[in-house]
Amino acid sequence: MEPANRKFDVVVIGGGPGGYVAAIRCAQLGLSTACIEGWLNESGKPALGGTCLNVGCIPSKALLDSSHHYSFIRHEAAEHGINAPGATVDVNRMLARKNRIVQGFTQGVAGLLRKNKVEWLQGFGKLLPDRQVEVTPVAQESTQPYTVAAAHIIIATGSVPARIPPAPVDNELIVDSTGALAFTDVPRRLGIIGAGVIGLELGSVWNRLGSKVVVLEALTEFLPTADRQIAGEAEKILRNQGLDIRLGAKVTGTASNNREVTVNLESPEGKQQLAVDRLIVAVGRRPNTARLGAADVGLKLDESGFVDVDDNCRTNLPGVFAIGDVVRGPMLAHKASEEGIAVAERIAGRHGHMNYGNIPWVIYTWPEIAWAGRTEQELKAAGVEYRAGAFPFAASGRAKAMGETGGQVKILSDSNTDRILGVHILGPNASELIAEAVLAMEFEGSAEDIALTIHAHPTLAEAMHEAALGVDHRSLHI
Ligand code: FAD
Ligand code: AMP
Repeated sequence: MEPANRKFDVVVIGGGPGGYVAAIRCAQLGLSTACIEGWLNESGKPALGGTCLNVGCIPSKALLDSSHHYSFIRHEAAEHGINAPGATVDVNRMLARKNRIVQGFTQGVAGLLRKNKVEWLQGFGKLLPDRQVEVTPVAQESTQPYTVAAAHIIIATGSVPARIPPAPVDNELIVDSTGALAFTDVPRRLGIIGAGVIGLELGSVWNRLGSKVVVLEALTEFLPTADRQIAGEAEKILRNQGLDIRLGAKVTGTASNNREVTVNLESPEGKQQLAVDRLIVAVGRRPNTARLGAADVGLKLDESGFVDVDDNCRTNLPGVFAIGDVVRGPMLAHKASEEGIAVAERIAGRHGHMNYGNIPWVIYTWPEIAWAGRTEQELKAAGVEYRAGAFPFAASGRAKAMGETGGQVKILSDSNTDRILGVHILGPNASELIAEAVLAMEFEGSAEDIALTIHAHPTLAEAMHEAALGVDHRSLHI
């Protein structure tokens, strides 16, 4: 039966990690579910997975891993007794690998929707009154818009790259994160506006592949939301790798000819100009409500354009929820997915669990930066009494064997109860190590709980154990 005029228990608008996960969970809970998604991939074919799978988490990690291997061969292999002189990069092959991974996963998500009997409506959804949604099909020129009805709607329309007037994206010399995942050669001089997560990850990729990278950041502080100590150490390591990070450098204008971009900036040293071959604009992301028709149905947005929701992701319209990047909170794929699951559970009349105080953050530079909970500066500002334990990877047998000795694990716990308040990691595989901290915090665990847990030897995770011991001044290996 054609979807037109049909009624579903749930219609999800957006098929990114928020939307497709919400749709699967709704279907698992026995709700008839449709997911509207209008993304077209490079070949013009409809694709699920949103920003994360198509132009975000997955392709960026594919390039980070490929470039990491190259960097290892160039800078570290010899130390391991491996001689690989003359290693070269085939960027097009690297991109083709990335594209295959993306395609595999986006097709995989389509398979998951089919398996769970979620109907994928290939188009863009616009809200109509009384929980009706108009779907404008994509990739099928002749098909007219049609309307579906829903008992509940979940808005999961995500975000798009933010733009700034001084650096208009032309998708040739000046690109956003999407363009920066598809350079077909290594730019000799690469400028990046914004030293946030995306700027640092993409800067790392192209720096490793041979670009001379300058990162321009308007703020005077490096990674202000990270723990100060960890951010300071990370900044040093990244600078040593060749990233020219300029803090307090505000881009005020750009001029490009066919060959290069001249960037005008105001910095502590005064007005400056910088010539680069390519410029990446990585100044954050903004909520995507462009096609939703929010104003027409009275859907409330907040002052920054996010769909306004309460703690349970309810909008001001009855039966309409919103999740992921399009609502307040960190713009992270796992946050979007967990909100999606929680909302599905709530719609099915069950308890939806979402712990906003315990969302892991990861920056996939190398070493990686990962944290959960509160930073030392936040605890100080809040007047919370805490104890800190830290352990450097330089003292970890496994890290030494790997040749990855930069960074540390730092655990902050409540002085009175020993409950873990924050864990901050700079180090190899920090993205994986943080999971132990998140689990401990989810169980409201103490530093002593981690200290009493047996960790295999030799592992990077032993640094977590030692840092936990350190909270009570009884680290054994420092
Ligand atoms: P999105 O993934 O943006 O999906 C929204 C979907 O809705 C899109 O597919 C869009 O086409 C669709 N849509 C929009 N409007 C409509 C409409 N009207 N009708 C139908 N469909 C519509 N996060 C991490 O956690 N880890 C990472 O390592 C990471 N790396 C990143 C790297 C880069 C380069 C970028 C850009 C982002 C990265 N992120 C990462 C962020 C992550 O991609 C987002 O937080 C995540 O994708 C948000 O999920 P979402 O479902 O809310 O939105
Ligand atoms: P994030 O939101 O984490 O991706 O980070 C984006 C970064 O871009 C922020 O740290 C901003 O301070 C920075 N930024 C925004 N506009 C400019 C600008 N005109 N010049 C330099 N940096 C900027």
